[in-house]
Amino acid sequence: MSALKLGCIADDFTGATDLANNLVRSGMRVVQTIGVPTAPLASDVDAVVVALKSRTIPAAEAIAQSLDALKWLQAQGAQQIYFKYCSTFDSTPEGNIGPVTEALMDALGCDFTIATPAFPDNGRTVFKGYLFAGNVLLNESGMQNHPLTPMTDANLVRVMQAQTKRKVGLIDYKTVAQGEAAVRERITALRTEGVGVAVVDATSNADLHLLGPALKGMPLVTAGSGVAIGLPANFGLQPSVQASQLPVASGLQAVVSGSCSVATNAQVAHFKASGRPAMAIAPASLMHGQSDTVVQQVLAWAAPLLNDGPVLVYSTAEPDAVKAVQAQLGVAEAGALVEHALAAVARGLVGLGVRQLVVAGGETSGACVQALGIAQLQIGPQIDPGVPWCHAPTDSGGLHITLKSGNFGTEDFFSKAFGALG
Ligand code: ADP
Repeated sequence: MSALKLGCIADDFTGATDLANNLVRSGMRVVQTIGVPTAPLASDVDAVVVALKSRTIPAAEAIAQSLDALKWLQAQGAQQIYFKYCSTFDSTPEGNIGPVTEALMDALGCDFTIATPAFPDNGRTVFKGYLFAGNVLLNESGMQNHPLTPMTDANLVRVMQAQTKRKVGLIDYKTVAQGEAAVRERITALRTEGVGVAVVDATSNADLHLLGPALKGMPLVTAGSGVAIGLPANFGLQPSVQASQLPVASGLQAVVSGSCSVATNAQVAHFKASGRPAMAIAPASLMHGQSDTVVQQVLAWAAPLLNDGPVLVYSTAEPDAVKAVQAQLGVAEAGALVEHALAAVARGLVGLGVRQLVVAGGETSGACVQALGIAQLQIGPQIDPGVPWCHAPTDSGGLHITLKSGNFGTEDFFSKAFGALG
């Protein structure tokens, strides 16, 4: 097996998939692992993305988990390390982006790295060090009110400096526009000034492609998922159909949806309107220890239908209904009850022979992946931006699964997804 080219550490689950998707589209064969694996890498791939859940945990724990991931990636021969965070630079004043970056730099013995969450395809651009979300500065985008990581300053040099002991600098758009030699020259100058971390401007994919070659040989890159599009070429890789090839799909098809986002509500309505069978789970019906009974009823309903095509099981509801349930059960309790039930449904459906599974909802995906005992996902073709098909090896011969976070995907996503598997 050839040595791993890129070893990635992502600070959350759906962010890991987003990064993996960009790498695959740029020509890398990628596996995503759920947490740090305990065994050596079994498949021959170009990149591994280790998905952690370290964005908002205490900095010391985030560092410990990230260093564990680094150790494992180094043991697999990773030639370059990529620390992936959110394209809105989600972090608290204490971190965790800065502390984890510095811990990785120390462990790798490197004195310089970059930091840029730019992801132009998703409207995240960095200009003169300021992060824009769409047409507005980060701190006017709604992110200033985020419950866990309020972002009240769009100046990333300042934000990063507040969480970093090393000096933070800037590689601006004018330098990036001049390409590799200019960026390398700027890096040399910044190093001389004692800068250890440089925020990099990027307002388009063209900028990210210009930046890519200058990152060749840098032991650590820290970024959102955007920078990834410029890296595979450094390893001699070009976009190819082979990179996203998964085993041939077979078996029955189903959709499990626990997302209540606007896009998912439209997708559920579209699937129902197409005449396909759909069963709703009402959160209140799961109370008083009734969850197992409801799950059994759902599976009994689905069993005879599955041979005729995909079925949908959903708790997806409009905001008013969700609020009413949350008032009755409490937000956390309602979420946990539904996640638990949908995860049991997903496991039951696989027990009935489902081998192509669409899951809607970030938290819902986490619960389903855990219930299915999935430790590793090979990343396949993109269905919609940010949402690829994946393949998980299982005892029953493997499962094709796609994990759609809330607002991703077109209205016909649930039907379209199965078509995309061929
Ligand atoms: P998204 O990606 O759209 O945010 P998530 O799965 O991450 O979706 O989050 C949705 C949350 O809402 C989950 O905790 C889920 O269990 C919960 N939930 C799903 N359906 C309902 C409902 N009808 N009422 C209340 N909570 C619900």
